[in-house]
Amino acid sequence: MKLCFNQGSSDHCKGHSMMADLEAAERYGFDYIDLRFDVLDDYLKGHTAEELAAWFGSHHLKPSSYSGLLFFNWKRTDEEKQKVFDELNRLIPIFNTIGLRTIAVIPSCDIKEHASIEEIKDDAVWMLNRMADLCEPHGISLALEFIGMGSFTINRFDTAYDIVTAVNRDSVGMAVDLFHFYAMASNPADVAACDGKKIINLHLNDAEGLPIGAPYLDDSKRLWPGDGCIDKKAVTDALKACGFDTDAIPAAVEVFRPEYYGLTVDENVKTAYEKTKAFVERYFS
Ligand code: ZN
Repeated sequence: MKLCFNQGSSDHCKGHSMMADLEAAERYGFDYIDLRFDVLDDYLKGHTAEELAAWFGSHHLKPSSYSGLLFFNWKRTDEEKQKVFDELNRLIPIFNTIGLRTIAVIPSCDIKEHASIEEIKDDAVWMLNRMADLCEPHGISLALEFIGMGSFTINRFDTAYDIVTAVNRDSVGMAVDLFHFYAMASNPADVAACDGKKIINLHLNDAEGLPIGAPYLDDSKRLWPGDGCIDKKAVTDALKACGFDTDAIPAAVEVFRPEYYGLTVDENVKTAYEKTKAFVERYFS
């Protein structure tokens, strides 16, 4: 299985930058990198997409996914919807230049309306179809990432899976992030019964043992893969049972832990690699 480093993991480390991540991820053995939206924006203020493409062209490390397009759904006006499409239209030429083929899309949170699950699903299906109309001709896929917090509109595996199966396009799949999976008590049985081809992003991490739904069970409680209380065997066995493609989809380490931001970029990336490699060897081989 290929290993991928998500830039969120080192985002606030001292000396952090696009190039610091790229060089460290290459040095410690990662195959892929997931580019974080704000790090890419910062980089492009002083560089071009062509420069980034040239770097990837001369190294083993390659871009995997964009992490991510924020708050794509439950837009209440045409103007708000158009902003999402405009953002995609801005990003697509960049991704074509650097060879990035998957965009993680993050649902909206803290909405005013007391929307039902069905209303949220219908809206998300419509939006994803419009977004795929823009991305699909470029060979770019969308990975819907459910966010395991009560404030998010799409916060469980089953809801996200229903949405991507209703969209029913090869270019629209979903992300499974172990922390989000744990944090809203998604069910491994739903994964085992799903079409594994719909899972096109896998985010590895772990979690502190805090109550499901607690407002303080947030991203800061993420741990390195293997270091926390998630039932890793149950989730990875379910992924294997559904036909999730471990050859095609890399295992991407994604943590946002303040304590890990105290490490240097080098220490952070090195630790991320060791933890991810050990996790994959234990649960996916
Ligand atoms: Zn994630």
